[in-house]
Amino acid sequence: MAERTLRGARLGGQSFEDERGIEFAARQQVGYLCKQGHEFEVTMSVEADIPANWECPRCGAEALSTAGILPEAKVEKPARTHWDMLLERRSEKELEDILKERLELLRGGAIGPAHLHRANRKKRVS
Ligand SMILES: [Zn+2]
Repeated sequence: MAERTLRGARLGGQSFEDERGIEFAARQQVGYLCKQGHEFEVTMSVEADIPANWECPRCGAEALSTAGILPEAKVEKPARTHWDMLLERRSEKELEDILKERLELLRGGAIGPAHLHRANRKKRVS
């Protein structure tokens, strides 16, 4: 950590005394364990959302948090059914009225499959 922060600084040109008294953001060590059994820690800000997975620096495999942080369950949108889409456009009361209207037309022989038409039925009977 310390080495990394000093890298790139011009020696002698700058005093690091200024940094005294500055509080560094609080950090935490987060442990991970990969499938190959490599354990490692990643330094993160305490404010960071700890990822459930981290790439193993030794083998590149996906490592899981040893702190028991589970991967966020993917929020799957429930599939919209035809019924859902219908309800977005009409209330159930409206649909009942439409159903009643259509049933009357169907019973009256105005709509529906030909074999249900009263006129046809009459023809068939006679
Ligand atoms: Zn590994």
